[in-house]
Amino acid sequence: MGSAIDLAAAVRTGARSARSITEEHLAAIDAREGEIHAFNLVTRDQALAAADAVDAAVARGEDPGPLAGVPVALKDNLCTRGIPTTCSSRILEGWRPPYDATVVERVLAAGGIPVGKTNLDEFAMGSSTENSAFGPTRNPRDPSRVPGGSSGGSAAAVAAGFAPLALGSDTGGSIRQPAALCGVVGVKPTYGAVSRYGLVAFASSLDQIGPFANSVDDAALLLDVISGHDPLDSTSIAAPPTSLRAAGGDVAGLRIGIAVELTEADGIAPEVRTAVERAAEALVAAGATVERISVPSAVYGLSAYYLIAPAAASSNLARYDGVRYGLRSPGVDVAEMNAATRDAGFGDEVKRRIMLGTYALSAGYYDAYYGQAQRVRTLIIRDLAAAYERVDALISPTAPTTAFPFGAKTADPLAMYLSDVCTIPTNLAGHPAMSVPFGLGADGLPIGVQVLAPALGETVMFRVARAIEAAGESA
Ligand code: GLN
Repeated sequence: MGSAIDLAAAVRTGARSARSITEEHLAAIDAREGEIHAFNLVTRDQALAAADAVDAAVARGEDPGPLAGVPVALKDNLCTRGIPTTCSSRILEGWRPPYDATVVERVLAAGGIPVGKTNLDEFAMGSSTENSAFGPTRNPRDPSRVPGGSSGGSAAAVAAGFAPLALGSDTGGSIRQPAALCGVVGVKPTYGAVSRYGLVAFASSLDQIGPFANSVDDAALLLDVISGHDPLDSTSIAAPPTSLRAAGGDVAGLRIGIAVELTEADGIAPEVRTAVERAAEALVAAGATVERISVPSAVYGLSAYYLIAPAAASSNLARYDGVRYGLRSPGVDVAEMNAATRDAGFGDEVKRRIMLGTYALSAGYYDAYYGQAQRVRTLIIRDLAAAYERVDALISPTAPTTAFPFGAKTADPLAMYLSDVCTIPTNLAGHPAMSVPFGLGADGLPIGVQVLAPALGETVMFRVARAIEAAGESA
C-alpha cells in the first residue's frame, strides 16, 4: 500500500485522497483484525472525519503537513481526548481522557490519521502482549507466535499493513523488541527528545514514546513530527525537532562497536549473534570501521531495571484507587474499596511489579535495593560514555531470539524478563536505540539488529540503521 512518505506526498500533491488511503487501511483491518487483535479500539469514524478534513485542506490549497493522510496506530497508553484509553487494564474501564497526548496532537497537526488504539501488556509491563486484560495480539508473520511487547499491538498493526506508522512506548525495550519480533523498524528516542505529556506513566525516568514503521525513512518521518521541546513535560529537552529524514545513510568513516556483553549474553541464539556479525560486515563494506567494545556493567542492567522500574510503577500506579479513574469495586470503607478495586482491576504481572517495587522502596531495604540499583545505573552510564569515546555508535541484537510461541514464557517471569536483556541498558542511560530488521532465523521469522547511540545521537543512529537496512535488502 506504499510507504508513509509516498502516501503523504501523494496526498499533498492531490494525486490521492486521504479518504481513499484511510478506507484502504480500514479494509485491511476488517480483513485480518479478527485474527491478529492488534487493536483495543478502531476509531473508524474519527479516522474518516480526520481524512476528510485533510482532503478539504488540500482542496483549499493548503498543505496539511508531512503526515498528510497517513494512518497512524496509537498505543493504548497514549491519551486521546474523549476516546477510551485503557492501558489494556480493567482498572481504567470507562475512562476517557479529557486531553490528547502531545504526540497525538502533533500527529494530527501534521495531517496524520489516528486509526485506533493498539493492544499492549497491561500498563506496558511485559514482553509478549500476553499480559493484556483483553487477550493477546498475534504476530502477523506467524499467528502461533507472540508479537513481542509491550507495544505488540503497534508492531503488529504495522507488520500487518493496518497502518504504515504506529506509536509505542519503550521503558525497557517495549518498542524495539516487538519491532524485532514482527520484522519492522522501531525507535526509542533519547530520553526527553519526545514529550511524555499524555503518556500514562509506568517508570517515569525510563519511559519514552517512539515510532514503528516499515522502513528507517518512514520511522524518521514520524520521529521528526513528534520530537521537539514541550513545556508540558518537565523532562522535555529544550532542543528543536530532529531532521532525521535528511540524515542519509552514509557511514563512511564512522566508527562502530559491537557491544560485546549484549551480543554474547546468555540466551542469545547463535543465529541472532551471526546476524549482528553480518550487519557489522555490511557496515565495513559501506566504509565504516568496526571493533568489539566492552560495556562491562551492561550485564547488570536487567537486575537494576527490575528494581527501578517496579519502584517507579508502585508509586505511579498508586493513583488507581477507585476514586479518580475508571473501575470501582464496593467496600465497607474507603480502604476496603481501594483494595477491592485494585484486586479486581489489576492483572497478576502488574500486582507483582507493585509488590516488588513497594518492597524495594520500604524502610530498611531502600538503600540495599533501590539505592544499589541507582548506583548500577550510574556505572552503566559511565561505561557507555567510555565506549562512545571510542566509537560513534554500537550494535547488538535487539532480542535474544525470534518470536516465541504463546505460553512459552508465561509461567516463568524471569525468562520473560530476559527478553529485554539487550534493550534495557539504553533506557537506564537515557540514550536512543532502534531496531532494524536484518535477515531471518531458521524458523523463517525476522531478526532485529539494534543500533545504539549516545544521548541526542539520533542522526548517527539513523545513518547506521539505513546502512544496515540497505544491506539487509540486498542480502
Ligand atoms: N518488558 C519490559 C517490562 O516488562 C519492558 C517494558 C516496556 O518497555 N514498557 O518491563
